Amino acid sequence: FFGALLAFSSALAGARQPAPAGAEAAAVEALLARMTLEEKLGQLTQYRGRGSDTGPRVPEGGEAQIRGGQVGSFLGVYGADYSRQMQQVAVEESRLGIPLLFAHDVIHGFRTTFPVPLAEAASFDLEAVENAARIAAVEATAHGLHWTFAPMVDLARDPRWGRIVEGAGEDPHLGATMAAARVRGFQGADLAAADTMLATAKHFVAYGAAEGGRDYNTVDMSERTLHETYLPPFRAAVEAGVQSIMPAFNEVAGVPMHAHRPLIEDLLRGEWGFDGVLVSDYNAIQELMPHGVAATRADAGILGLEAGVDVDMVSGIYLEDVAAAVRDGRLDEAFVDASVRRVLRAKHRLGLFDDPYRYSDPAREKAVTLTEEHRGAARDLARKSFVLLKNEDDALPLSAGALRTLAVVGPLADDRREMLGNWVAAGRPEDVVTPLAGLREALGSDVRILHARGADIDGDDTSGFAEALEAARRADAVVLFLGESQEMSAEANNRTTLDLPGVQEQLARAVHATGKPVVAVLFGGRPLSVNWLHENVPAIMMAWFPGTEAGHALADVLLGGHAPGGKLPVTFPRNVGQVPIHYNHKNTGRPPDADDKYTAKYLDVHWSPLYPFGHGLGYTSFRYDALRVDAPRIRRGDAVEVEVRVTNTGRRAGEEVVQLYLRDDVASVTRPVKELRGFQRVALQPGESRRVRFRLEPEALAVLDAGMRPVVEPGTFTVFAGGSSADTVETSFEVVTD
Ligand code: BGC
Repeated sequence: FFGALLAFSSALAGARQPAPAGAEAAAVEALLARMTLEEKLGQLTQYRGRGSDTGPRVPEGGEAQIRGGQVGSFLGVYGADYSRQMQQVAVEESRLGIPLLFAHDVIHGFRTTFPVPLAEAASFDLEAVENAARIAAVEATAHGLHWTFAPMVDLARDPRWGRIVEGAGEDPHLGATMAAARVRGFQGADLAAADTMLATAKHFVAYGAAEGGRDYNTVDMSERTLHETYLPPFRAAVEAGVQSIMPAFNEVAGVPMHAHRPLIEDLLRGEWGFDGVLVSDYNAIQELMPHGVAATRADAGILGLEAGVDVDMVSGIYLEDVAAAVRDGRLDEAFVDASVRRVLRAKHRLGLFDDPYRYSDPAREKAVTLTEEHRGAARDLARKSFVLLKNEDDALPLSAGALRTLAVVGPLADDRREMLGNWVAAGRPEDVVTPLAGLREALGSDVRILHARGADIDGDDTSGFAEALEAARRADAVVLFLGESQEMSAEANNRTTLDLPGVQEQLARAVHATGKPVVAVLFGGRPLSVNWLHENVPAIMMAWFPGTEAGHALADVLLGGHAPGGKLPVTFPRNVGQVPIHYNHKNTGRPPDADDKYTAKYLDVHWSPLYPFGHGLGYTSFRYDALRVDAPRIRRGDAVEVEVRVTNTGRRAGEEVVQLYLRDDVASVTRPVKELRGFQRVALQPGESRRVRFRLEPEALAVLDAGMRPVVEPGTFTVFAGGSSADTVETSFEVVTD
């Protein structure tokens, strides 16, 4: 209680702090001084648009609210012409003429849809991921959008959770670097430029750790896990200059995140110095009531504002219920002012007070949407995101030269909508190239393609099997396109099994039984426990949901024009009973592979995963050797330089994600068996060698001490390098105190 009280008074002190100096601050203060309480609360209010034949529009009554200064931003309203019209109402017809913000979930592309975020992370290619966010911003801003609710930087160790698809997987380092890359992409170098937008790191914090993998569910975790594992991607986003953060729907250890003053005011704004906008999640201010910490709407609004949640998305509570609370003295108006300052500052930073119409540009909208260049980037990133899980006897690539007839089988072979994945901003199925279309285009008339859907994604209907088996029998080889539907890995869509849905495995078994060569391509937004495929089908490739250019990218890779080089950003368990399972686990006193009965194992399946974090094959092979640390002994506070030689030992060119892991061998607190500390994606010709260098800064060697402060402790550290977390060479170095 005392801690909470302290946190509360420091939050109040923070809210009362004078605004920073400078022209921006002066302009904000001048405007704030002219605002009525209702106008202030209007700036903190966001409403959702509605779809119509002519595009996303403001809700009924929206125009009057803009005119009355009762709304500061909209969610899901865009279109160059229309957003310009609405902006005009705000700027020319409202008393103070404050421009609106148009926000939207631009998650993995806008009209050009890139692979789903988990797939993008599988590329381990920060430049390509940054570029994808840049392109999304270029397209979205031309449509009038200023603000995206991305990137989602929630770490997830639980594949039951449907939103694992939206993040970068299970690793804090990968998550942090991906978060920063995406923020840089959306926000660009200059926020005031007309093609950059506010990025939002969400959902602060621990949303991916919901009990049972059920979206929105309770989270309870140690402070150590929170700081070591779940907070680093947010910290990286803040360091990359992210302008907005969205709290999570969940509670953390008894406090709903939308009312969490210690984590928001003390940590995020205080310690980390975040000075941007906090936007509530959808209706989450109102949800403080069912959470059981607010009895009335006004109480919920007070809690949100006191915690520093600036913008109320859709509940209307700030506008409708908070003014009375301020007048009754239940809420200090300083909290409202602090939030309004942050919103006005964001509008300034975007340049909207100089030119409110710069974003809504019909000519630019036409010129930059779904261009060949953007499609090319989506195709490139899709190729880079594919993870070849297994490839026995070089079953892939298919040798088109030797094929006369190819059977293309499965519910995901020719479905445009599915390829886009969930959270499609403005992407359209009609823009999509399906795998079937991509293969047809690439193979032309040289190879005859027999297509059969075989089964639906879900359900128990096997009536399509006969056609699929007939196609298989008549073909030289079969490619199975199997997996989840895009809806299955999405918000509120959690599963208690990671198996292929419906009768798809049965279909695969039946096709396999024809004796024809079979390879499998999997779609999904989460790890899948494809044990039967793993044991029986020579080649399996995880394609996630690849986006607009799915079919082109798949044809490029399946036919060998490009080699796959993606790696798993998340562990694939053997079954759901192993969850949570992640590579950076602790060792326990009873390591599971020890030669003893009493170890941390399971009776029914091996404790190891089906496919480990970092795993992914190519069409060639790589050798790792000559791993060395520049200085075998370093002083505490020094950085370490590490080098490893990687050689392409096969006959094809390929790309490899070189991974560097570290372990603090003996520390004052237990440490994970290894932790990713660096990665580089390199391209190597057959026979080519490259010395890949990494620099480990002192922070990379630190542990959090009992007070959660980072310290580098003396002792030995093991360094691992390899093409997977489970396949590494190693060496060590020592940190000494003097
Ligand atoms: C999601 C957010 C999203 C918001 C607005 C919520 O349901 O949790 O991630 O930004 O909706 O669409």
